[in-house]
Amino acid sequence: MVVVLKKNTDESQVQNLVNWLASLGIDVHRSEGEYETILGLIGDTSHVDTDLISGLGIVDAVKRISEPYKNANRKFHPDDTVIDIAGHKIGGGNFQYIAGPCSVESEEQICSIAKDVKSGGAALLRGGAFKPRTSPYAFQGMRAEGLELLREARKETGMPIVTEIMDLSHLDLFEDVDVIQVGARNMQNFELLKALGHTDKPVLLKRGLANTMEELLMSAEYIMAGGNSKVMLCERGIRTFENYTRNTMDVSAIALLKEKSHLPVIADPSHAAGLSRLVRPLALAAVAAGADGLMIEVHNDPAHALCDGPQALRPEEFKEVVREAEAVRNIIKDFR
Ligand code: PEP
Ligand code: MN
Repeated sequence: MVVVLKKNTDESQVQNLVNWLASLGIDVHRSEGEYETILGLIGDTSHVDTDLISGLGIVDAVKRISEPYKNANRKFHPDDTVIDIAGHKIGGGNFQYIAGPCSVESEEQICSIAKDVKSGGAALLRGGAFKPRTSPYAFQGMRAEGLELLREARKETGMPIVTEIMDLSHLDLFEDVDVIQVGARNMQNFELLKALGHTDKPVLLKRGLANTMEELLMSAEYIMAGGNSKVMLCERGIRTFENYTRNTMDVSAIALLKEKSHLPVIADPSHAAGLSRLVRPLALAAVAAGADGLMIEVHNDPAHALCDGPQALRPEEFKEVVREAEAVRNIIKDFR
């Protein structure tokens, strides 16, 4: 971190700042230029509040040089993190498909889709039991009963289950869920993130609708700071001025998150596109950009789905996307 001081500052105030930084374990390298005095902060500045420093009367500007996240940072953990979910590895060259309906609707629905996506190439089954809906009048999910039906589908197919937690108070219900999803709307629910940091469950952390990559990494940091390093980042599209698609898939985030962090990156082309016919091209782009997995919504009767039908693939379409994504993976592995 670099702090630029205002001209003609009172030396005792500068000394106060230097002493305060020293109390935080930060060494200060001072350089006096002709026009400016610059303080170079040396040490772990992740605990230093930049807003507090820039608010001081003697300070002209503050700039962070190193990222404020440590646990999620590839600089301090150069090797890819590999997460093992009931024998299915994700990251470090291991790629997985997570597929299933937006919402669990009935035992028949979730079990039959589970079998279909498994035979189409998915290793993990997704399905929402608690649904974050824009309208309070829309289907809210089957809640605890939905979790029970996911367990049933896991029993029938052997597929680990991925499902979204919406509130900290539900954590006990998620005890035997294989992967806990934190949805886009909860990406900065810091109390929830902290609580998940104290579990040893793999967490699929989705990027918020209007959050930067750094904010996503800081949310991962919340979970990891509590001791849980099993975090997967998920790019699911961000909100832009474009409205032909539901969101705008940020393909650059897939490549850049892989550069900045060692955590696996999953792409969700379904919520990015909002339209089933765009899922295939976005999925292939995500694979080419280096994603470690794809999460795709699949429904056996999209026209009658209780949630997100327009973006759901039918099982045979999902199978075809897997076939093509595998072809892309095969091509790019020769370039690495
Ligand atoms: C979902 O995965 O069904 C979901 C609600 O996703 P998001 O949080 O990305 O909107
Ligand atoms: Mn959905």
